[in-house]
Amino acid sequence: MPGALWRPIPVNHTRGGQDSVRGVVVHIMAGTLTGTDSWFRNSRAQASSHFGTGKGGTLYQWVDTADRAWAQAGGNRTWLSVENEGQGGDVLTDEQLDRVAQVLAWAHKTHGVPLQVASSPDGRGLGYHAMGGSAWGGHTSCPGSRIVAQLADIVRRAQKVTGAPAAGDYTAPAFPSGLAPNRAKPSAKPLQRALKAAGFMSKSVAEADNYGPRTQDAVAKFHNAHPAYRAAGKSYDPAIGPRGWAALNRLAYDK
Ligand SMILES: [Zn+2]
Repeated sequence: MPGALWRPIPVNHTRGGQDSVRGVVVHIMAGTLTGTDSWFRNSRAQASSHFGTGKGGTLYQWVDTADRAWAQAGGNRTWLSVENEGQGGDVLTDEQLDRVAQVLAWAHKTHGVPLQVASSPDGRGLGYHAMGGSAWGGHTSCPGSRIVAQLADIVRRAQKVTGAPAAGDYTAPAFPSGLAPNRAKPSAKPLQRALKAAGFMSKSVAEADNYGPRTQDAVAKFHNAHPAYRAAGKSYDPAIGPRGWAALNRLAYDK
């Protein structure tokens, strides 16, 4: 990642092992950046992460994001990881918040990670180690509740980095009623299928060839997670432009 100091480690990761990326997991080192850097080079560690921050704002990258770091057990396959210098109970420094935000912004651009807080392994966005429970190694105090409370701030900073408008308060405009079943207009079904596959619409909603309120709600959810794609064009339908449609398809089908 541009902006990170590339510090490749020869051991403790799986080459080419990264599947699609759901998000970025925040950790606390319970130690220093220097100590962690040397520990990850020791094959006895059996641990690593993709990124690491120092309290002063140094950003290391140890593992390429195409490769699997060993940071959160069952969550390694589909989540990137960032370790942070400090002890349990610390908060991240202002510099660390900016660095993690840069990692998240980059993961958004490169892997389609939505700019939002995730709170479970089924979610997407910026998560934290403890949310994975025992499947993720049972690290219930990593990174600690004070840092978990900072995740929303990191997401806001990442939105600034990407130039995206603030998320969370957006409601999709109602689709023109002329788009209700009408063979001359594009069908709403492919959009509904993609929204479901990407997790923005409940799978139990029946597909229908109109842009009803539930489709509009799902589009609003997508746009709140990806503010940059709000109404970026009108080639496919009134609320998802070509860039948004491409992003939604990546989220839905690049698994
Ligand atoms: Zn951890």
